[in-house]
Amino acid sequence: MDGMELRASNVARLDGGTFDVLIVGGGINGAVSAAVLAGRGLNVAIIDRGDWAGFTSSSSSNLAWGGFKYLENYELNLVRKLSLSRNRLLKAYPTNITQLGFMAALDHSSPFPPWLAALGSSAYWAIGNFQTHRPQMVGPEEIKAQEPVVDITNVRGGIEYYDAYLRDNDSRFVWNFIRQSIEAGATAANYVELLDATQHGANWNVALQDLETGTEFELTAKAIINAAGPFVDGLNAKWENQTSHRIAYSKGIHLVVPQLTENERVLAFFDDTQRLFYVIPMGRRSVIGTTDTRIQTPFSEVTDEDRDFLLEQINSRLDLEVPLTKGDIIAERCGVRPLVVPNDGDDRENIDWTKLSRKHEIDLDIERRIVTIFGGKITDCLNVGEEVADEVEKLGFVLEPDQEDWFGEPSEEVRNDFMRQAKRMKLDDLRHKKGVEPLSERLWRRYGRRAFAMLDEIRENPVMGEDILASADYLRVELHHAARHEMITHLEDFMLRRSKIDLVVRNEKIREGDGLAEVSRILFGDKSDDKLGQYLAKKDALSA
Ligand SMILES: Cc1cc2nc3c(=O)[nH]c(=O)nc-3n(C[C@H](O)[C@H](O)[C@H](O)COP(=O)(O)OP(=O)(O)OC[C@H]3O[C@@H](n4cnc5c(N)ncnc54)[C@H](O)[C@@H]3O)c2cc1C
Repeated sequence: MDGMELRASNVARLDGGTFDVLIVGGGINGAVSAAVLAGRGLNVAIIDRGDWAGFTSSSSSNLAWGGFKYLENYELNLVRKLSLSRNRLLKAYPTNITQLGFMAALDHSSPFPPWLAALGSSAYWAIGNFQTHRPQMVGPEEIKAQEPVVDITNVRGGIEYYDAYLRDNDSRFVWNFIRQSIEAGATAANYVELLDATQHGANWNVALQDLETGTEFELTAKAIINAAGPFVDGLNAKWENQTSHRIAYSKGIHLVVPQLTENERVLAFFDDTQRLFYVIPMGRRSVIGTTDTRIQTPFSEVTDEDRDFLLEQINSRLDLEVPLTKGDIIAERCGVRPLVVPNDGDDRENIDWTKLSRKHEIDLDIERRIVTIFGGKITDCLNVGEEVADEVEKLGFVLEPDQEDWFGEPSEEVRNDFMRQAKRMKLDDLRHKKGVEPLSERLWRRYGRRAFAMLDEIRENPVMGEDILASADYLRVELHHAARHEMITHLEDFMLRRSKIDLVVRNEKIREGDGLAEVSRILFGDKSDDKLGQYLAKKDALSA
């Protein structure tokens, strides 16, 4: 079975099907809802009109964090909640979510002196139940000694505090929830759009369109979960569903550039508008971001002004031999934060969006049988899942007890067993590259239990253990796995979201040799030429 067959079989199950709930939107909020509800016994359908995590949930900073900077707005409750969620994620995903230091260098124009920032970081540490390493105050020389790339000419001092990040990217994290929901019995299809939904008695009749074939079809659901992120208001308006909250949009961009520091640590600075921005590790690259710009629609793109702003800010804070230019940008990300505001008739123009909270809200309309998820953070996903389950129970569904088995990595025992097998076959000796994460750890992190089958395949056919694309850490066996299990419909789904190859490898490098053509052949069989052509045309259009 290839990725398209997996999708086609799920579309066939949606067509004419009857479900307890239909979840509209396969970003983090929809994915986590599908995982918890299917895991607790409901008959779940989930759709997205793009790829899984194809919208906001693939544009984040990849951080699982308590939100130190929200202390500036005295949002103690939010910071407490997010810090506890971060702690839970760190425990549940020991190899996928890693604690890392944030070294903040404060200059004379920073809004806080180092001593006050140090006090704040201690409070932040306490709010997070002291579960991370202890924060500390650092002098300019200490900053220079640890991070020679930082220009300390104007630096008064700084702090190092701790949070966490997703080692692979946000969209792969979201995909894992979709995969988990499918394994628990959910029916899931990407590239399927909700066109219309009408309520008849206790049921919703829902009109959908398969955007790959153009075919329209229907299904029936007893309840709808509106997890459409920046598009929730549009769907609610269409259904004449009155909600207590609505969405305001804030655009944020990131620039991926060559690695600026070899340490696995975030560098934090205040920009000229006194807003914090970061240099975040992404494998052998660094990611600079983000920005916070009020916009009026969910659609956005990186502008020259955005690029110039971030490059100027970072160049004036780093000691680089040659300043970064647009030519150094390997990839860009642009996303719209769906920020939740009260639906009290206040004009959106009057909202001070920089002060808007990053919390989430869940509205329930018992009569219409609609649950809407507004806003939120990837960090808060387990809480969102649990709260959605509570709301769904209020609709009269009886859920199985929560065994908390709808999230997290397999146990330490299973991991040890995998590592023993990998060691016995000398997997890491075979493929050892200096300074690169051992292969066994990489496979375990990305695939968990499914990595066992990969060891079998490599044992049977050593060609499966070879790299498939120059400069990208992907083995042939991983491609075969992706083709069978990861619902990849377009080449971009793999290159940008299931993997992060498009983010970290330069365009020219990706096109070198026959690797890309082989990737397309493994994923799409006899459709590979078309899929490759579409992918390259899109990339050309973007770079133009
Ligand atoms: C720049 C930036 C940085 C961020 N950094 C972080 C961070 O570091 N850590 C963190 O925790 N959070 C971060 N966030 C916040 C986080 O990314 C978002 O809150 C989260 O991704 C929103 O997820 P969602 O599921 O609500 O929306 P989305 O991911 O946008 O999902 C909604 C989905 O609904 C689908 N959809 C809409 N209408 C339809 C329809 N009619 N039919 C079918 N499908 C439909 C869309 O295609 C879309 O995929 C960041 C956000 C941004 C923008």
